[in-house]
Amino acid sequence: MSDITELSNFINGEWRPANCEHWIEDYSPANGAHIARIPCSSSEDIDAAVEAALDAADNWANLSIAERADWLDTIAGALEERAEEVAQLESLDTGKPISLARSVDAARSVANFRFFAEQGREFESEVFEMSDATNRVVYKPVGVAGLITPWNLPLYLLSWKVAPALLMGNTVVAKPSEMTPMTASLLAEVIEDVGLPRGVFNLVHGNGIDAGAPLTSHPDVNLISFTGGTTTGREVAKSASSGFKKLSLELGGKNATIIRADVDIENMIHGIVRASFLNQGQVCLCGSRILIHESIYDTFVEAFLNAVANMVVGDPADEGTELGALISAAHRDKVLSYIDLAEEEGGDILCGGGAPVGIPQAFENGYWVSPTVIDGLAPDSRCSTEEIFGPVVTLHPFSDDEEAIEIANMTDYGLAGSIWTADIEAGSAMAEQIDSGMIWVNCWLHRDLRVPFGGVKNSGVGREGGRWSLGFFSEAINICVKH
Ligand code: NAD
Repeated sequence: MSDITELSNFINGEWRPANCEHWIEDYSPANGAHIARIPCSSSEDIDAAVEAALDAADNWANLSIAERADWLDTIAGALEERAEEVAQLESLDTGKPISLARSVDAARSVANFRFFAEQGREFESEVFEMSDATNRVVYKPVGVAGLITPWNLPLYLLSWKVAPALLMGNTVVAKPSEMTPMTASLLAEVIEDVGLPRGVFNLVHGNGIDAGAPLTSHPDVNLISFTGGTTTGREVAKSASSGFKKLSLELGGKNATIIRADVDIENMIHGIVRASFLNQGQVCLCGSRILIHESIYDTFVEAFLNAVANMVVGDPADEGTELGALISAAHRDKVLSYIDLAEEEGGDILCGGGAPVGIPQAFENGYWVSPTVIDGLAPDSRCSTEEIFGPVVTLHPFSDDEEAIEIANMTDYGLAGSIWTADIEAGSAMAEQIDSGMIWVNCWLHRDLRVPFGGVKNSGVGREGGRWSLGFFSEAINICVKH
């Protein structure tokens, strides 16, 4: 028992036990070991956190944006000092490779605070002149922001919301995923250490029903920023709508990776494999459907399978590991059930399909699926159109650009995609035909934090990123003065 970390809520600048006697247990995905427990918080804990956030709201809103930007930089600096701890905790809690946790999760969490601090310093509101009047736009805080995040990129996504919410003068109640609570608590420690005013940032651990739902329906919460699954997003939207809360929903995806006939396979294959399997395929942006021009189908598939076979799957703590474990036993079983379904739907499993062969005994109780490539499925089959969110990709031939676009759009999701081609003009033109919020040409997850981020169709509502985040986390008020 002594190795199990017990986490508390952080409300009004204090670590508080939850108003409930139940705990949620947290397991290491790599080996199934019991590593932590969090309080199964209830609506009473949410009420306390919202009250603290409300009490802190006026003083925080009265600071200038430059003063709040300074706070973000202070948090960034303190978080950076603990970056290795962030990476270790994130790898332990999610099962992702330590190299990825260092280069992406820890680094980006710090970068998010720095980026929004910078955005705050550059922020200028608009003035619109008329012949007889001047309009001045003033950006006011929305109020108390409820921030709900998933398990795949825990601190990366939480900091992506906390930083702009605080910058624009809101106070925050955060509810991270119950499956990956560790780094949210570390962020609260950092925030306590730097002395952010009490109540400006509050953290409530717990599950979606008992803690998430009371946050989304709370009458004193004015804004909800939610990242998670589409089914949950629908519930969040219903709950938030009756109070007319500002709402941003970043939801699931089923993204197409389009390989045109002129692609330079040798130079691009590494990027295409990364787009397929980064974080064990548990990135909402991962390309889980690869559409390949029929003239290069066999050559591409051979190169792809060779590259996948060379991926190092194993101990997440090992520096050389490229793929780790899936988040939970339940999620692994869901992914495996889709592989079974693929076989029922007529697919051929070209590689993978189950736990990696030869995984060391120490990891036998972990939640492993080796990278899986499936051929021969109809593009409108369930496995080709539903989000699996694991290390599974399906392959589909196409005969021309029109057919590739048709297949790419053959899903209810519309988050992201990528196109790989030597013809930049044709690739860019094709990108505009795809019903997705974000398309990369000859790259994937190449992020500029200033650009809009979000999905269309069932992948979400609204945009975050750069000035879109600043707009979402504030209320634009127009003041018109007659000359
Ligand atoms: P999830 O929807 O199960 O949970 C997300 C969060 O919502 C968790 O904190 C959970 O406790 C909370 N929650 C659950 N039910 C709730 C309710 N009724 N009310 C309020 N909160 C509730 O998602 P997940 O399994 O944690 O994450 C995986 C999903 O997230 C995938 O679908 C993935 O595509 C998506 N995702 C999207 C993006 C994006 O930017 N579009 C980024 C990362 C992940």
